[in-house]
Amino acid sequence: MQATDAAAITLDDYLGMIPKVEVHAHLIGSMRPSTYDEFARNAGIELPRSAAAFYPYEDFYEFLKLSRLGTTFLNRREDFARVICEALEDGLNLANQRHTEMFFNPQYFMARGIPYRTVIDGLCDGVRQARRLWGVSCLLIPSFGRQIDERGAHEVLDAILANREDEVVGIGLDGAERDGPPERFAAVYRRAGQAGLKRTAHVCEDNQTMAEAPPSNFATCLDLLGCDRLDHGYNLLADSDMVRRARDEGKYFTTVALASAEVRRAGRFRSIARMVEEGLPVTINTDNPAMFGTNLAHSYRAVCTACGWGHQEARRFSLAGVDASWLDDTEKQRLRAEFTASLDTLGTALAANPD
Ligand SMILES: [Zn+2]
Repeated sequence: MQATDAAAITLDDYLGMIPKVEVHAHLIGSMRPSTYDEFARNAGIELPRSAAAFYPYEDFYEFLKLSRLGTTFLNRREDFARVICEALEDGLNLANQRHTEMFFNPQYFMARGIPYRTVIDGLCDGVRQARRLWGVSCLLIPSFGRQIDERGAHEVLDAILANREDEVVGIGLDGAERDGPPERFAAVYRRAGQAGLKRTAHVCEDNQTMAEAPPSNFATCLDLLGCDRLDHGYNLLADSDMVRRARDEGKYFTTVALASAEVRRAGRFRSIARMVEEGLPVTINTDNPAMFGTNLAHSYRAVCTACGWGHQEARRFSLAGVDASWLDDTEKQRLRAEFTASLDTLGTALAANPD
């Protein structure tokens, strides 16, 4: 997918070919389905259906169950390397995804006796191999599954801080909000911030009720967790004060175009459209591309079609991905220049389309 072809292209082509950044994807949810099946077979586990047919899920909790099952398949340094390298290869080939920020949950591996060092060494191997082979970049975000208790979260952070790698620039918090309110993580997030790590958290997800994931969780993520970025954010639309604050703060929301349950898709599109209308900084992401049966090009097409957006909006999302990333300023500038040149070329090719 090179942006050098001067021939006319369609909007559909354009949405596929433009360079993209994914700042909200999870390791297990990005695992190539054939690899997931192979690992399950090797582990002697019979799956309810092939990983390629996982989506759609009965509900969010069925997805979480299969996602956690996937964590039990990764044991060796080379397993972690393979999974992330394949995910980056697929992102590039399917969606021209040039930069990725990937969540992974150390606690599930550590609980099975796999040292954090093994996990991070494998992931760094895979990220560096992808950079060598295809020139794509990736940062890693160790993330707490929010059902972890406070002591467990501190132990995970201890491991992160004792094994620093350039690829690890920040931490995250994920899983069902009802299982762990953000305030539980105030102390661990403070320590992470003091150690120079950036911070994000899943918040105000629409697969939770308003009581489970209230708009006030957004304020907690800013005030107690010191978040630099927020993942999702839809439920905050129910509170006009929170919407105003989000606009004033100007921090990016990493929205996810396609929800885990099919019944939630239309509502999700409406929420993203409203966040954009309200002037909130938004990026488009996949969350779990392989496990949601999508990729970033497919997600761009889906959200643009549903919201009636064209090439100008897609261009803004492409560049917003760069701006929202946790790359350092030099890398960001370089990527922005590369993206702008590619978007200009593709914009010219799109304008040449007589349709
Ligand atoms: Zn997520």
